[in-house]
Amino acid sequence: MKIFITFEIIALTFLLFSCSQSKINNSKNPPSTIEENPNIVFIMTDDHTKQAMSAYGSKLINTPNIDRIANEGIRFDRSFVTNSICAPSRAVSLTGKYSSVNGLRDNRDRFDGSQQTFPKLLQKAGYQTIMIGKWHLKSEPTGFDSWRILPGQGNYYNPTFISSDGESKKHEGYVTNLITDFALKELKQRDTSKPFALLYFHKAPHRNWMPDIKDLGLYKDKKIPLPKTFYDDYNTRGKPAHEQDMRIENLYNSFDMKLHLSDGEKDSSGGNDKFDAISNWDLVYRSLTTNQKTAWDNAYNSENKSFKEAGLSGNELIEWKYQRYIKDYLLTVKSVDDNVGRLLDYLEKEGLSENTMIIYTSDQGFYLGEHGWYDKRFMYEESFSMPLAIRYPNKIIPGSTTKKLVMNLDLAPTILDYAGVEIPEDMQGISLRPLTENNKSNDIWRKAVYYHYYEYPHGWHKVHAHRGVRTDRYKLIHFYDINEWELYDLKKDPSEVNNIYNNTDYSKIKKDLKEELLRLRKQYKDTE
Ligand code: CA
Repeated sequence: MKIFITFEIIALTFLLFSCSQSKINNSKNPPSTIEENPNIVFIMTDDHTKQAMSAYGSKLINTPNIDRIANEGIRFDRSFVTNSICAPSRAVSLTGKYSSVNGLRDNRDRFDGSQQTFPKLLQKAGYQTIMIGKWHLKSEPTGFDSWRILPGQGNYYNPTFISSDGESKKHEGYVTNLITDFALKELKQRDTSKPFALLYFHKAPHRNWMPDIKDLGLYKDKKIPLPKTFYDDYNTRGKPAHEQDMRIENLYNSFDMKLHLSDGEKDSSGGNDKFDAISNWDLVYRSLTTNQKTAWDNAYNSENKSFKEAGLSGNELIEWKYQRYIKDYLLTVKSVDDNVGRLLDYLEKEGLSENTMIIYTSDQGFYLGEHGWYDKRFMYEESFSMPLAIRYPNKIIPGSTTKKLVMNLDLAPTILDYAGVEIPEDMQGISLRPLTENNKSNDIWRKAVYYHYYEYPHGWHKVHAHRGVRTDRYKLIHFYDINEWELYDLKKDPSEVNNIYNNTDYSKIKKDLKEELLRLRKQYKDTE
């Protein structure tokens, strides 16, 4: 009965909210001149997860600069992506629309740059729009006065950048520093008669997790503890958790672990022969400068030698791989944090920090050994979540937090709302402004979020396609190609190791969640 009432409330809430939402959309925006509109800095990293951000309580790393955005603004504790994979997630953030509507469902798709995006709408409203860093949408950026991006995934060291003025040039150095250099250069030469919107998108901490030379070896003497679900046996789950190909033990010895192969030696990853061409650390190493090679040799050679001599197997081998993986991952995050600090310092020095809205997020979360995994894709919390913090001292009270359910879908409407630009009716996200500024409005916030991951059977990591719905307490997942279901009670089982789909005590909850899943599918036009 209780859950029935809850869903009645959801339906009513939705109606109420739809009304209030359309009221927001239809109301005239505050009568302000463009000079009064905030500058926008939208920071997106690639695969940075909440477990590696100290504002979320991470014990793995200290991220003081990224934390400044959260501590001096609002931190979202339940922030999710609609589709946990790189390019689709970026398309959602730009359009405020689900993959089924913006057309970019998996990493094979090309973004249709002719469609409406928030940078285009800002540009039309008089903003100077700038995109720097990792774009990863196959088509060229549209809606920007200037852009400088990495082609495809880009390289950590000595990367090539292509730009809106037609330049394609290799730059010596480390990608996270270079992206920041270019972003600062653009800000320094901006048109000060206009507000600016800077999209500052990092490659890090994406695979293959190459730290900057200044940070190499920094965690050498540290032993990072294993997450408590590291040896998860998936015994309550069906095929998808068993059949995935993203276990720590299957990380490539060469590409991921940075071990040099002997002549004729094949990489000892867990299969995936078709990807061997890119799985070669020696190819990457050969692209480094002499100084860079020396730094890597000094940091890794003796450790690599001991590893080869030890001939580890079983759990010892898996745990060695985990240490190499997690330390490299965390060090790439450290460089992002250092560089976010450079950007924040610049804004402060220029007197821009009061009237600039700064958003920090990532294109999704990531597994740092939880369930024995790296990578993303699944609707389980680690990869379904994304870090999200917004700092805007003019409007947002420092030190705010919220547990309301928010999505990357909401970023475009939020940015437009703050910029004083009308939110188009066809955007599917909602402005976060009722949460950032007026806690009383929290009562009418959404009660469930909807998820759809597509990339199967092609592509990487063999994660079955699935749809799902999450409320404050429950999560229902449908792996629809094999018709397998999972249900989790997040209050009793926050680590999601106990699938209770067949537990009859939850029959009513299951039924209601299935109805909600169907309702949200229709609402978001995901009807294929
Ligand atoms: Ca990503």
